Amino acid sequence: MASVSSSSCLSKAVRQHYMSLPQGEKCQVTYIWIDGTGEELRNKTRTLDSEPESINDIPEWNFDGSSTYQAEGSNSDMYLIPVRMFRDPFTLDRNKLVLCEVLKYNRLPAETNERASCNKVMEEVKDHHMWFGMEQEYTLLGIDGHPFSWPVHGYPSPQGPYYCGVGAKNAYGRDIVECHYKACLYAGVKICGTNAEVMPSQWEFQVGPCEGIEMGDHLWVARYLLHRVCEDFGVVATLDPKPITGNWNGAGCHTNVSTMQMREERGLQYIEEAIEKLRKKHSKHIRVYDPRGGQDNARRLTGLHETSSINDFSAGVANRGASIRIPRQVGQEKRGYFEDRRPAANCDPYAVTKAIAHTCLLDSEEEED
Ligand code: ADP
Ligand code: MN
Ligand code: MN
Ligand code: MN
Repeated sequence: MASVSSSSCLSKAVRQHYMSLPQGEKCQVTYIWIDGTGEELRNKTRTLDSEPESINDIPEWNFDGSSTYQAEGSNSDMYLIPVRMFRDPFTLDRNKLVLCEVLKYNRLPAETNERASCNKVMEEVKDHHMWFGMEQEYTLLGIDGHPFSWPVHGYPSPQGPYYCGVGAKNAYGRDIVECHYKACLYAGVKICGTNAEVMPSQWEFQVGPCEGIEMGDHLWVARYLLHRVCEDFGVVATLDPKPITGNWNGAGCHTNVSTMQMREERGLQYIEEAIEKLRKKHSKHIRVYDPRGGQDNARRLTGLHETSSINDFSAGVANRGASIRIPRQVGQEKRGYFEDRRPAANCDPYAVTKAIAHTCLLDSEEEED
């Protein structure tokens, strides 16, 4: 199997011996952060003398920003500020995973630290109790970059049987999906579901509902767990929004949104108000819904394959070809949430949720983008 990595073929039985050794009172803490690409994650581990009870027990740390596209070599130290703690599903209790914000030498947020400004907006709107749920689509690749389990030459049979499919002909790589799901539950990530997608080797998991800044935190850690599980199996998960050109679905990160008012009786009117505000800010949102200002999404949002055109804003009940979809049940009950289908799979959830909260709850009516 040339398409899986060599390290995934090392003896896992030998590994198990060492992993089962007692570790005394000491605690391994793995610090996780977003690097200078704004898409990739980095991590490193240190020992604490005892188990931290909360995030407040975890000290700041630092790293070499010149090796993560985040700083010049001559002034390379960056600060790691712990923001959210999870259980470590790989080395198990009492060990921790800790998501961090990155600050520069002057203690201002690093260029790709979207969390700091997102958090400010979420604080401003916290009385609205804005909930989010994000649907992370991704595609499995061999380490050779070829879609996992696709024929070496040619293509699998056309899309149709794969979405929510079962059986070896339809579902490619379910081990990863199931292991990732368990890892998220163990860690304390608010994963709420998973399904096979329309393109073979493409899958989705959902995280939510999460309130405010929690959304970005939980989705980034869910992504970390996905990459880490894939590493064990020797395959790669890509978040590229259109990994295969042609008649194959792209990958998005649909973002579901509600405020307290929308969830209450007759909430539909607040959903409709929010949609009108989003309509006015379509191009601003497209600019922040992928890491390249809309370029990545231009390959995906074609108006085909259950997407809307990148140039148009549209909304509708149960319409999967619209920018914004109101789920059928929400239309019937006249309360609930709406779905923004535009964010690309590789979006930064902090940038997406910040833009939505800002447009729907803070912008004045008159401004156009
Ligand atoms: P779809 O039908 O679009 O595939 P999914 O079942 O994949 O929908 O995802 C639904 C998402 O909506 C989940 O992430 C869930 O957490 C989120 N969600 C459900 N209720 C709400 C709500 N009231 N506010 C915000 N998000 C919600
Ligand atoms: Mn979905
Ligand atoms: Mn989907
Ligand atoms: Mn969806």
